[in-house]
Amino acid sequence: MLSKAGVSERGAIFLGKYVACDAFNEERPLRIVTHAHSDHMLGLRQSLMRCESLVMTPATKDLIDALMGPLFLMMGNVKSLDYNEPLNFRDETLQLRYADHILGTAQVLVEDAEGTRILYTSDFRLRDTPVVEADVIVMEATYGNPSRIRKFDDNIEDLFVSLVETGLKQGPVFVFSYHGKLQQTMQILHEAGVRVPFIVPEKVFHVSKICERHGMRLGRLLLSTTELGKAMLDDGGPFVAFYHMGSRKGVGEKAFRVCVSGWEFASACRKIGEKEYILALSDHSDFNGLLRYVKESRPKLVITDNFRSGDAEVLAQEIRKRLGINSLSLPC
Ligand SMILES: [Zn+2]
Repeated sequence: MLSKAGVSERGAIFLGKYVACDAFNEERPLRIVTHAHSDHMLGLRQSLMRCESLVMTPATKDLIDALMGPLFLMMGNVKSLDYNEPLNFRDETLQLRYADHILGTAQVLVEDAEGTRILYTSDFRLRDTPVVEADVIVMEATYGNPSRIRKFDDNIEDLFVSLVETGLKQGPVFVFSYHGKLQQTMQILHEAGVRVPFIVPEKVFHVSKICERHGMRLGRLLLSTTELGKAMLDDGGPFVAFYHMGSRKGVGEKAFRVCVSGWEFASACRKIGEKEYILALSDHSDFNGLLRYVKESRPKLVITDNFRSGDAEVLAQEIRKRLGINSLSLPC
């Protein structure tokens, strides 16, 4: 079983004989991009130049076009593959399965010539992610430590809406998060009927347009670089501005600020400054969610991803101890 899956020193997830997910590997002809987060697009340029083909969902392809420019993916042989559509590659079959994470995220299932089912979960939140039964699983380990259990079951969406509404009574509100999750926060506010202008910088705007094209409803967005956008930002609201977490310093520093992050376990919302809050909206499973996935998938072997951030060694140990299933973290 161990020869059928692995994780390379550079973060490539190996499934079967041909597939490398989420990082480049020179020996693997088929590169899969499970979603458009940067730690899953490693060595993409090399893959485009050297792999026989690259496979991703249509939404992931559109998101990469928005983030990297429309010419970038044209360097290689890119194939869009819908969820559940089988793709034969030599003597193996591959399928992408839905994962609840950011738009376009896929789990990857490879079935080899011997009928062994080999799965990479990629990043996922268990809530709406269908569990895939497999013999071997490679799994994310972001919250792989037993201390990473969310101790609250408050409705985070409602909490977020009321926090933003409180802020809007005082003036503008700035929301900081990551691509994909920012758009989730827009959708939550739009669905809750928050109808102030949403102001966004260019990259967030492009990603948002792709999300809308793939069915998300985000409301009316205004570019921060247009005359109207600039005037509104100067005018002092009310509006909600959405920025990438990387711009947290230097943007909207005096305004009411909400940072949306998954790394919160004790409470759903925490005040960190006079007008600044951290909200625990995660697009990853907590420790219990990871274990539950393994339990329901019933694999013979679990490899935890020790390349990306998280607690892969501890998770492997807990899977062995609590579920009695063979597990190890890779790379060692
Ligand atoms: Zn991710």
